[in-house]
Amino acid sequence: MSRELLTVEVAVFAPLRKTFHYLPPAASHSAVLEPGTRVRVPFGRTVRIGVVLGPAPSDASAKLSLKKIIEVIDSSPTIGPELMRLALWAADYYQHPIGEVLATMLPGPLRNGRAPGVRQTIEWTATHSNELDLTALARKAPRQAAVLKRIGESPAVAADFEPLDFDWRRALRGLEKKGLVHRRSHPPSMMPAPVHTAAPVALNAAQTKAAQSLISAFGSFSAYLLHGVTGSGKTEVYMAAIDKVLERNMSALLLVPEIILTQQMVARLKQHFGDAVGVLHSGLTDRERTQVWLRCRDGRVKILMGTRSALWTPLSRLGIVVVDEEHDGSFKQQEGFRYNARDMAIVRAQQAAVPIVLGTATPSLETYLNVKKGKYAYLSLPERAGAARLPKIRCIDVRGLPMAGGLSDRLTCAINKRLARNEQTLLFINRRGFAPVVLCHQCGGIAMCSRCDAKMVWHKERRVLICHHCGEQQRIQQIAPCCEKSKLIPLGFGTEQVEETLNKLFPSKNVARIDRDSMRRKSAMEDVFAAIGDGSVDILIGTQMLAKGHDFSRVTLVGIIDADSQLFSTDFRAEEKLAQLIIQVAGRAGRAEAPGEVLIQTHHPGHELLQMLIGAGYDSFAERALEERRSAALPPYVPMALVRAEAPSSQASNDFLAALANKVKVRGVRGLEILGPVPAAMEKRAGRYRAQLMLTATARGVLAAAVKLLIDASEDVPARHKVRWSVDIDPQDTM
Ligand code: ADP
Ligand code: ZN
Repeated sequence: MSRELLTVEVAVFAPLRKTFHYLPPAASHSAVLEPGTRVRVPFGRTVRIGVVLGPAPSDASAKLSLKKIIEVIDSSPTIGPELMRLALWAADYYQHPIGEVLATMLPGPLRNGRAPGVRQTIEWTATHSNELDLTALARKAPRQAAVLKRIGESPAVAADFEPLDFDWRRALRGLEKKGLVHRRSHPPSMMPAPVHTAAPVALNAAQTKAAQSLISAFGSFSAYLLHGVTGSGKTEVYMAAIDKVLERNMSALLLVPEIILTQQMVARLKQHFGDAVGVLHSGLTDRERTQVWLRCRDGRVKILMGTRSALWTPLSRLGIVVVDEEHDGSFKQQEGFRYNARDMAIVRAQQAAVPIVLGTATPSLETYLNVKKGKYAYLSLPERAGAARLPKIRCIDVRGLPMAGGLSDRLTCAINKRLARNEQTLLFINRRGFAPVVLCHQCGGIAMCSRCDAKMVWHKERRVLICHHCGEQQRIQQIAPCCEKSKLIPLGFGTEQVEETLNKLFPSKNVARIDRDSMRRKSAMEDVFAAIGDGSVDILIGTQMLAKGHDFSRVTLVGIIDADSQLFSTDFRAEEKLAQLIIQVAGRAGRAEAPGEVLIQTHHPGHELLQMLIGAGYDSFAERALEERRSAALPPYVPMALVRAEAPSSQASNDFLAALANKVKVRGVRGLEILGPVPAAMEKRAGRYRAQLMLTATARGVLAAAVKLLIDASEDVPARHKVRWSVDIDPQDTM
């Protein structure tokens, strides 16, 4: 069969669960359309970008109605075979349209069909020059003829066309479309081996053992939990293993949950590995992101560190995957293609046949269970590295104590001691803004968001009330017509208010606030980290941005200002998340020689969770929590999926989900439980009413089949046009 006649299957970048068949652009098109090649295709009345999945079964009569690909964008596949395989796996597991999965994988410009070879040398060669009537072409398209003449002499690069005083790129595109010239890109030359600029620290016995286990696992898939208490030196273990990976001329992928964590880590990696380190996170411009992506693909980045989406970056000769702070919920994408980067990292390692290490001080219950089942090997760093010791954790029973702006006397006293010794204090409160609730002194009304079932949060600095769920803003005067001259009374505390209190209590000291509001400026993070490092900051106040993973050697006191607000949530994961948060925040104290102390302010010092964490530690907590999950038949013991729907009316969301549930129930799937539909914990958000259906099953396969059934059945539910709905496999947030 001649190659020209092959039709291809294309995943179009659109939220559709179908793929489409197209004919090659021209009968004479010479390039083989390999999977992963980007193409421009006619789609309805528009033109879209898509990715070739492979040849499609071609039957002559069907072909008559097929449309042609408009343009083949790549001369070689932008998405290589490894990542194509990963994408297909993900689309299947998360039951998400393959076109959207592939689109998610690419940096914006590549997704939009821009040429990938920004830094590559492109070379054009003539294809059919001998059969071609150059004079005829010169008559019809003189510019194309001039360009072709130049290429006919020898393969040409951009510089060769510069003398031409017209838009030669356009002419080239014309020639490429006619199949008269062919483009080829040269990979740039390989990076020289990385230079070690800093002498590595001498690993202690536990670190050495852990690193050796990883190194001995090279060359095939295996998964490890590196369970190291906070400050135990996990990063040094990763670096020791990566050293050996580089020796084999292979590369490493290191995922971290949050952009703010890339800061310190990248400094440490660069110090050790120099320019072989690349970083990807949401703070980059499209252009920067594309450049890093290309450097990775071309083998010039040997160690890629990044947040969630870095998972999808091509790396030549991958040798190891590291997921730091594996317990962190930020690895889960919460909208669109709802994948978990930690779980997908396992799949990537498996497909690439390389070891993966999940590092944390507070393993997720999913990971704990995988260790128990023997699926992951267990590596432990039970003690802090160097001379540091784990801090003492204590509760401050604030019942009846005098409080000023959220701080009890006992906490203030402890801060004072640190100030006198020139040590730093870190205070944690999980709420940004000035106050989470504001009351009008005139009418007693509480400011609510008009579009959500949520209270407006007072942001004093910006002089507005902001809804943290939909972003709606109200100027203070607008909250109620009666209140023009009224005073607003703040209820509860946020970071801004604690900062204000600290400035009043310690006017000569430096207070730094770290939350999403104060970190909006691009260089803010760098500046504040530098100030923390050189000791010019005395007290740090922040949200969970501050709680995770950082290594601040001068902090000796950690204060958790308000543990109570999180003790009584109904989400089945709430306790696990709170336990992790407390241990992680506590872990910021006493990371160098000076011993650390952690004080938790609470009205419930006897609460079982606090008692357990303080008395017995995280492992005992996890054991007990796992037992509870088992008896309640909840993840990680059973697989779960959540179907969410939202609509302008509560009825519409509910009816749609009820119809879906019925379609599945009538099929009588064995081993499947369907709960709901029930309204979401915050039913109204951004003007839409939300409901959800929870599915659990006795086995993964049962769940997958049920979700598939449900997605297929949705086609027959007429109300589907009235709702926005989504499927979430392994949901993190089930409220
Ligand atoms: P973790 O990620 O486990 O919380 P880090 O990797 O941030 O811990 O290490 C905590 C601190 O201990 C860092 O300042 C690091 O430089 C230091 N450290 C790590 N390993 C050693 C070692 N073997 N000897 C001395 N100091 C070490
Ligand atoms: Zn709102």
